[in-house]
Amino acid sequence: MEGTIKIIGLLAFLAGICGKVDAQSDTGARKPNVIFIMADDHAYQAISAYSDALIQTPNIDRIGREGAVMRKAFVTNSVCSPSRAVILTGKYSHQNGQRDNGTYFDGKQVTLPKIFKAHGYQTALVGKWHLFSQPTGFDYWNILPDQGHYYNPAFINMGKDTAYTGYVTDVTTDLALDWIERNRDTPFFIMLHHKAPHRNWMPPLKYLKDFNDRQFALPHDFYDDYTGRVALQRQLISMKEGLDVRYDSKVPCDTCTSKKVNSWAPAEFQREMERLTPAERRTWDDAYRHEYKAFEAIKDKDQLLRWQYQRFMEDYLRCVRSVDDNIGRVLKYLDDKGLADNTIVVYMSDQGVYLGEHGLYDKRFMYEESFRTPMLIRYPRAVPQHRQIDAYALNLDVAPTLLDLAGIAVPGDMQGVSMKTLLQKGKDKTWRKAVYYHYYEKSFGATAHYGIRTERYKLMYFYDPVQAWELYDLQKDPHEMHNLYNDAAYAATVKELKQQLKALQAQYKDPVP
Ligand code: CA
Repeated sequence: MEGTIKIIGLLAFLAGICGKVDAQSDTGARKPNVIFIMADDHAYQAISAYSDALIQTPNIDRIGREGAVMRKAFVTNSVCSPSRAVILTGKYSHQNGQRDNGTYFDGKQVTLPKIFKAHGYQTALVGKWHLFSQPTGFDYWNILPDQGHYYNPAFINMGKDTAYTGYVTDVTTDLALDWIERNRDTPFFIMLHHKAPHRNWMPPLKYLKDFNDRQFALPHDFYDDYTGRVALQRQLISMKEGLDVRYDSKVPCDTCTSKKVNSWAPAEFQREMERLTPAERRTWDDAYRHEYKAFEAIKDKDQLLRWQYQRFMEDYLRCVRSVDDNIGRVLKYLDDKGLADNTIVVYMSDQGVYLGEHGLYDKRFMYEESFRTPMLIRYPRAVPQHRQIDAYALNLDVAPTLLDLAGIAVPGDMQGVSMKTLLQKGKDKTWRKAVYYHYYEKSFGATAHYGIRTERYKLMYFYDPVQAWELYDLQKDPHEMHNLYNDAAYAATVKELKQQLKALQAQYKDPVP
């Protein structure tokens, strides 16, 4: 019964917006095309528009230089499937139903591609989907099964199993550009979702030797001992405990005695390596041979940890370099075809990740590194160049923003806000001053938690399976090392933040436990 009501509601909604189906905006100009590019687990620390300490990413930077860099963009739930569902719906996880990675996305609900489609757009999705149910609202979809593979990847092309030769980031871009080329005479909306640079960071063969000459400095909080933070004490995403020698660090450890090989790792690793041709496998082995030797010379646990950090950074950044190359291909295509001016290009990640900060390598927590995401937006016809925007943009805002920029009415039940004014004027007096976050999934030793971030403070409540409050003064302690929740000097601050938190939970209709 509830499902029937939802379908009727959707039909009524689509009928309403179908009333003005056309390819022209209200001013008579052609509607903008949209290319929404999302990487998986791309840390802002590894984009030179944010920091050039680790890598140069000239093509991603170009999107920001010719448009806007959202310097303080966040996600509302820092893990893959939930963030994707937030982007598709413009609603928090408790509203769209996708609280964790273990749920099938409810594809019957109103989503961004469905609205674009109802307004005369051709719509497509290529690359990583990770929402388990069949994609809806796309005229064309060609997706990776589950997490997908890096080499010679399998895809599901409109329901049909298929496979392509090449490296996944190149292949995904090829598929996107082929589809755009076939559809560029109508307004188009495409979600181009890269698998990279997600674990286990398998680089393109041509970049296997990049960064060998770099020694990456450990983040200053790499040896964080998690004093005063019980949820961090029980997580299983530390480089010390979680990085597998075989799967993550790519050491041929099938017979070695290292304790840092998980039972599942050799088989998982093998599944990826089997996709390489014999010649490609030789290239791989040749490139990593010196690493095998370095591994054999390791004498103690700390040396192993430092070496694994170095290995992680090399492979991660090799994957990022390939993502950046492929963004360059998309931008060049738009230039070559004269489409750049009238095409909105967004680049972001589904969330941020730790690159060794707090000793971690994953995401999930509301601490800055995984709470924040890179977000860059270019739309030459309507957004001025060189915008650096500090207002709190969210993944929740993507759907309303893209609709608004395309001159399409934003559904009233979307919880995000259009960034149009922010992008065009550089500021928006009415913009949110605080961000609400709610994470649910308990895998990898994670603890469900919610919280609020304001300009100066962050207050979090961890509730399942351990209960604890944490407060950070971001001005004095930007790396969130000192939990001030029990500090009497902050009692009034805690009280006020709790009131603000409650107000946000009411505003977003979150039935907190
Ligand atoms: Ca992710």
